[in-house]
Amino acid sequence: MSSARSLTSAPELAEELRERFVAIVGARHAITTPEDMAPYLEEPRGLFHGATPLVLMPASTDEVAAILALAHAESIAVVPQGGNTGLVGGQVPGLGGAQGRRPEVLVSLKRMRAVRSIDTDGNTMTVEAGLTLAEAQAAAETVERLFPLSLASEGSCTIGGNLATNAGGVAVLAYGAMRALTLGLEVVLADGRIWDGLRALPKDNTGLDLRDLFIGSEGTLGIITAAVLKLFPRPVEQATAIVGVRDLDCMARLFARARRVGGPMLTAFEIMPRFGLALVLRHAKGARDPLQAPAPWYALIELSSPLADEGMGEKLERLLGEALDEDEIADAAIARSLTARAAFWALRERLSEVQKREGASIKNDVSVPIAHIPEFIARADARMAELVPGCRPLPFGHFGDGNIHYNISQPPDMEPAAFLAKWDRLTGAVNEIVLSLGGSVSAEHGIGRLKRDLLARVKSEVEIDLMRQIKRTLDPKNILNPGKMLDV
Ligand SMILES: Cc1cc2nc3c(=O)[nH]c(=O)nc-3n(C[C@H](O)[C@H](O)[C@H](O)COP(=O)(O)OP(=O)(O)OC[C@H]3O[C@@H](n4cnc5c(N)ncnc54)[C@H](O)[C@@H]3O)c2cc1C
Repeated sequence: MSSARSLTSAPELAEELRERFVAIVGARHAITTPEDMAPYLEEPRGLFHGATPLVLMPASTDEVAAILALAHAESIAVVPQGGNTGLVGGQVPGLGGAQGRRPEVLVSLKRMRAVRSIDTDGNTMTVEAGLTLAEAQAAAETVERLFPLSLASEGSCTIGGNLATNAGGVAVLAYGAMRALTLGLEVVLADGRIWDGLRALPKDNTGLDLRDLFIGSEGTLGIITAAVLKLFPRPVEQATAIVGVRDLDCMARLFARARRVGGPMLTAFEIMPRFGLALVLRHAKGARDPLQAPAPWYALIELSSPLADEGMGEKLERLLGEALDEDEIADAAIARSLTARAAFWALRERLSEVQKREGASIKNDVSVPIAHIPEFIARADARMAELVPGCRPLPFGHFGDGNIHYNISQPPDMEPAAFLAKWDRLTGAVNEIVLSLGGSVSAEHGIGRLKRDLLARVKSEVEIDLMRQIKRTLDPKNILNPGKMLDV
């Protein structure tokens, strides 16, 4: 991925076929001009630029089914898209598969955003795939429940995209990733048949688990149109702190202590280095340094309880007091109001945005066993300094899940393009270290197009063979998101 993959023109659809596709959704919901298509063809990092002859915006499962039935009959490729916030190029059309260039119609689920039902006895809600994550969270709020998935992109990303990528985020520590939050699915298959798996049963041991096969399949096995999601009691008491930490060995001890003291009430443990906080303070309007003296590392710790008077504040103070006594932390600030809590979280959530203001960056979404995080970061930092002197690593993220976003900002005096030309070299070196520590080269963003060539390195021949066979069975004409995740 040394330079952006770019397509300026898309293979055309025959006029008669285009009209048949457009007739399914109606002309108002089909986009055909380059200007109107542009927002669907760029992804957040600008690494991939896509091309498509047609963007279709169906309003119902039946319309999606009709689109796929026609695409299947005519062997036209289809790329599903939700909020277009994916970070591995999976939602970008026109990047092609093994069968060479052919038209790839983009199907945006954005119009399918109904909350079909909420069941407060069973604590579930059935929603359509195009609902944004923020809208799903708000729907849960209306019945005083929590839908816990939480990502910095939640205002734009959709439930369908979250399912297709098995999204993680900042609450995985307590609630699990999207797979753990889902009971049932509705999926349109490659040939246009609809699989109604919208079951809301926590217990259902009947046959193979198709639901978990589609979750995380990145649009390559079917188009998800709706899902039954689990709801949880809403936290009524939360205590949040930002803590300054001397080094990552102390961070590991602090995490173990937070687990002991907080138990299941530990709902977040996020880390960032001083360099990350400094960028937020430099570029994000209104951001303030939470501690008096700078620290090499920061942890954002949150304890939450669905019950009142459970003493979250006291627990947090006890945790921090013990950590101070043991010299694990240098200083800490506890949020004393909802506004202060929001300000602490904003420091963490604005990291991706502010890094863009520092020029080009090369990003790695990796995970290693928690005990190896300090070694991973130390080895990766040393290797990056050897490969590109002056580059500025910014490892941050979900310490409690072993998931580090090992991002690297360019040296200030280097040309962005020259730095990006080193993409393969730097990510290759990071991945070597990750694999030597028993980690994963994609913790939560998926494989998409960006990491496709890595799959063969991290999965055995047996696994790749099984994946290919499943893909060929469910999508024999390879029309669903061809060239993504797996080259068949
Ligand atoms: C600032 C920022 C922060 C982020 N933080 C996180 C994070 O903490 N954790 C995390 O996991 N991710 C994170 N992401 C990545 C991204 O937001 C998630 O992957 C998200 O789940 C993608 O949802 P989307 O609707 O935007 O999907 P898209 O980007 O539109 O698509 C992603 C993939 O899903 C497929 N797809 C989309 N909808 C469907 C559907 N209905 N049926 C079948 N396939 C479909 C697409 O073909 C593509 O392969 C972040 C992204 C940004 C920009």
